[in-house]
Amino acid sequence: MATLGIPQNTIAVLQKYNFNFQKKYGQNFLVDTHVLEKIMDAAQITKEDCVVEIGPGIGTMTQYLAERAGEVVAVEIDKNLIPILEDTLSEYENVTIINDDILKVDLNRIVEEKNQGKPVKVVANLPYYITTPIIMGLFENHVPLKSITIMVQKEVADRMQVGPGTKDYGALSLAVQYYAKPEIVAIVPPNCFIPRPNVGSAVIRLTRYEETPVKVKDEKFMFSLIRASFNQRRKTLANGLSNAQNLYLSREKVAEALEKMGLSATIRGEALTLEQFAQLSDLLDCQ
Ligand code: SAM
Repeated sequence: MATLGIPQNTIAVLQKYNFNFQKKYGQNFLVDTHVLEKIMDAAQITKEDCVVEIGPGIGTMTQYLAERAGEVVAVEIDKNLIPILEDTLSEYENVTIINDDILKVDLNRIVEEKNQGKPVKVVANLPYYITTPIIMGLFENHVPLKSITIMVQKEVADRMQVGPGTKDYGALSLAVQYYAKPEIVAIVPPNCFIPRPNVGSAVIRLTRYEETPVKVKDEKFMFSLIRASFNQRRKTLANGLSNAQNLYLSREKVAEALEKMGLSATIRGEALTLEQFAQLSDLLDCQ
């Protein structure tokens, strides 16, 4: 099968199967061999790797992965793509296609079955409508991971990389930076896809830390604090956290903890570093 990274080949497959794009599934297929090579370089795939691909589409990136990896497992929600994938990937024996919703499959079980529970690499041109739940799901469910190399909306890639005091800083930045080191490796314009998305894209690599850069007693509680802080971005941290129904914190308790940390009682969540959120979490957790 000729590479699908070349637009004419993708168009030929789409016509052969009379494929109708489903907008609700965020279907924008990559047709640029340079970008595909860049993704492969960034993910540094070798025969030692078991790769999980999210949303293989017609199999464009899957072909590249199958050539380089030991094992590829690709999870695709759209049943109309399954016969196409069986065709475009027919020459590879190291690819398993699962027709399911990535937010519903048990990835820990798949990693256990396909890679004896050892860390896998996730590589994907993600469906943009569920970028955040996919990333949070991978981290929060503690799927054994080496790295995640993904195409996302450019603006979302920026959010994953920024620090405190910027408008893009939020719960996603903190979650990503707690678990992994983020690096944008390519900026990708809309004309690299069929059909063209109406936003710019970027490839970002998240390399999982072996040990998290900050230590916190209760990770879950810290992320509840983080979420509550950014849900009410415009409020001071003391007001925002005491308003959050699920936290049972009084304004005074939060103000007292902030004072212990040498921070103003009127500070907002967006000014706190990950380290400070961890410290605040430990102080509030034991009360
Ligand atoms: N990997 C292909 C490429 O690069 O050309 C397709 C990428 S396209 C942006 C996203 C793919 O994810 C589509 O094939 C879409 O059907 C699939 N998808 C959307 N939602 C999904 C979900 N919840 N679970 C699994 N796959 C999903």
